[in-house]
Amino acid sequence: MNATTDLLLAGNALQYRIDGIDILRGPDVAVQRGELVGLIGPNGAGKSTLLRLLCGLETPTTGSVQWCGQALLSLPPAERARRIGYLAQGARAQWPVSVQRVVELGRLPYQGFWASPRAEDSAAVEHAMQLAEVIAYRNRVATTLSGGEQTLVMLARIFATRPQLIFADEPVAALDPYHQLHVMELLRNHAQGDNAAVVVLHDLSLAARFCDRLYLLQHGALFASGTPGAVLTPDNLRAVYGIESRISCDEQGVSVTPVKRVREGHP
Ligand code: ADP
Ligand code: MG
Repeated sequence: MNATTDLLLAGNALQYRIDGIDILRGPDVAVQRGELVGLIGPNGAGKSTLLRLLCGLETPTTGSVQWCGQALLSLPPAERARRIGYLAQGARAQWPVSVQRVVELGRLPYQGFWASPRAEDSAAVEHAMQLAEVIAYRNRVATTLSGGEQTLVMLARIFATRPQLIFADEPVAALDPYHQLHVMELLRNHAQGDNAAVVVLHDLSLAARFCDRLYLLQHGALFASGTPGAVLTPDNLRAVYGIESRISCDEQGVSVTPVKRVREGHP
């Protein structure tokens, strides 16, 4: 493995300050080709803010984000939109249009505003709807779907873009167990070859089973990073989440069970 050419995205010493409050305190984050990276940490730790910086939606107060060694924000917006897909936390369909139309919006970075879709656009949309298993409700008005169904539609829209790197902020939070596994498998399958994905999760067992590496964030700074086995230790979970946990391993992988709070109040 060549460390330089395998590096897809790097966030260096990212600081983000708003209204005099330091929301991010200089974490370094790297995403290699072929990796599924998990971002974990308590509510308010700065995960969503970090994701928005890494995909170029916000500008860091200090620090930089590099895409393949080049400043991310120097790439033309359409190029960024083709390379990077972003699923916002709690993403919902915004307009009362059909599911298929929402997924078609994922092709906009490839089209002039008035251009008609080409065969490859239609093929990408069809494939994305199949992947996310939203074909059955392709003609439904997207805003009438349940929250979990809308998550899958918004994910299909991202797959329709065929980005190299996908950022997904708590994509499984509103999903039943079948669809939680489904979405994790989709992200895992995406993160191969030249592609990669970064996913924010609260389910530590899913993080342990599916992710290659984890970043554990606390108060806007990195508390730990590395393999799930190195990061998901009872000591780390006590220090960061304020919980006692049981960590077990069987042929299905690692499971993390929160057992009880070890102190009251937010850690
Ligand atoms: P997480 O996704 O880990 O739950 P966020 O990145 O959403 O955390 O937020 C981190 C902290 O920054 C929170 O305390 C939040 O209230 C604060 N924050 C985020 N965005 C803003 C903003 N625009 N103005 C003020 N505070 C913000
Ligand atoms: Mg968040």
